[in-house]
Amino acid sequence: MIRNHHFEKVPSRYLFQEIRQKALQFQQKHPEAKLIRLGIGDTTEPIGPYIASQMELAAKNLATREGYFGYGPEQGIPELREAISKTVYNSQVSADDIFVSDGAKCDIGRLQFLFGPDAKIALQDPAYPVYLDSSLIYRGGNITFLPCTPENNFVPDITLAKGCDVLFLCMPNNPTGTVFTRTQLEQIVDYARKHHILIVFDTAYSFYVQGDYPKSIYEIDGAKEVAIEVGSFSKIAGFSGVRLGWTVVPEANRLKSDWMRINGTFFNGASILSQKGGIACLSQEGIKEVQAQVAFYLENTKMLAKAVKEHGFETYGGEHSPYLWARLKGLTSWQTFDMLLEQANIVTTPGSGFGPAGEGFIRISGFATRATVEQAIQNITKIDILTNKR
Ligand code: PLP
Repeated sequence: MIRNHHFEKVPSRYLFQEIRQKALQFQQKHPEAKLIRLGIGDTTEPIGPYIASQMELAAKNLATREGYFGYGPEQGIPELREAISKTVYNSQVSADDIFVSDGAKCDIGRLQFLFGPDAKIALQDPAYPVYLDSSLIYRGGNITFLPCTPENNFVPDITLAKGCDVLFLCMPNNPTGTVFTRTQLEQIVDYARKHHILIVFDTAYSFYVQGDYPKSIYEIDGAKEVAIEVGSFSKIAGFSGVRLGWTVVPEANRLKSDWMRINGTFFNGASILSQKGGIACLSQEGIKEVQAQVAFYLENTKMLAKAVKEHGFETYGGEHSPYLWARLKGLTSWQTFDMLLEQANIVTTPGSGFGPAGEGFIRISGFATRATVEQAIQNITKIDILTNKR
C-alpha cells in the first residue's frame, strides 16, 4: 500500500495526544484524583454575548431566501478583511493582501505547498510543533533549529538560518512566551532581506502583547517584502472550535498569486458563520469582549506564575502570553510532567515536545477557569513540601 515515507520521520503521535494518553492512564489508576488540565492550551471561557448574538443572527439569515448564500468569496468576506486591516493592522496592511482562513494551523499546513519540496526550513527551538511536523510530512527533512534558551533570552541567533529559505517565527512565542523588541525584530527582518529568507510570522497570540512591543512584523520597515503573517481568532475570542484565522501575503513579496492559487485549489473559504463572528469580534462592542478574555487569561497566568515561582520553579514568559515556561533544575521535561501529575494532579506540557532546546522545561497554560487556577495553586503548595524532601 502506498505511504508517504516521510511519516517515518515524524513523531508517531501528535504531542497533545500523547499527553492525553498519559493523563488517561493516570486517571484510570487513580479514579479519585481530580485532574487539573493546564496542558493543551485550549480556551475555556464562553464566547462574548455580543459576538455570539451576531453568529446567531447570521445562522437565522441563512434560513431565509433573501439571506441565504452558498460559497462565499474565496479570500473571505470583504467586510471582515477590511476589519482585520483596520483593527489589527491600523490600516498598514491592505485588505487585498489578507486571506481569511479556517485557522492558523490549517494555513501553516497549506503554506508548505507555497514553499515547495526543495525549501530549507529554519525553526525557533522550542516552537509550536506544527511547523516541524508539517515540514517533515511535506519534505522529510532539511530543517535547521535555532535554539532559544534563557542564555540568549529566548531570542534566536538569526545567523544560524543562513542558507535557509523559510524561517518560522512565533511572537509572542508558544511555548516560551517571548516577545521581541522592535530593535531585535528590525535586525531579524534586515538579515532576512539580505539573505533572501522568507519569514512566516505567527501572531496567534498578538493580542496578549502588552506595552510598546511590536504586535505585527509589518510594523518593521521592509518586512512586507520578506514576511508572511498568520493570525487567529482562536486564542483571542475563544474561536478554537468556531475556526477562523487569516494569513497576510503582501503584494510586495511576490507570492500572492501562488497563495491565491493554493487557496483556490485546496480550500473553499472559511465558514460564513465564523466570518460573521469575526466581524463582530472586531467591532467596537466585540473588541471589548475580546480584550476582557485576553485580560482574564493573562491574570490566570500571572497568578500561576506567582505560585510556581514561590515553589521553587525557574519561570519565564506569561507577561505577554497565556503560557509559562518553567523548570525545576535537575529534572527532565517528562520527569517534571510526571511529578506534577502524580503529586499535584496537574497536567502540563513537557517542553521537550516543542523541540530539543525545550528539554528540562514544562509549559503551563493559563487557559483555564478561575476555579481551576485557584485549585492548581493550592495543589502546587503540596509539591513544595515534597520537593523539599527530595
Ligand atoms: N499558532 C500557534 C502558535 C498556536 O499555539 C496555535 C494553537 O495552539 C495555532 C497557531 C493554531 O491556531 P488555530 O486554532 O487558528 O488553528
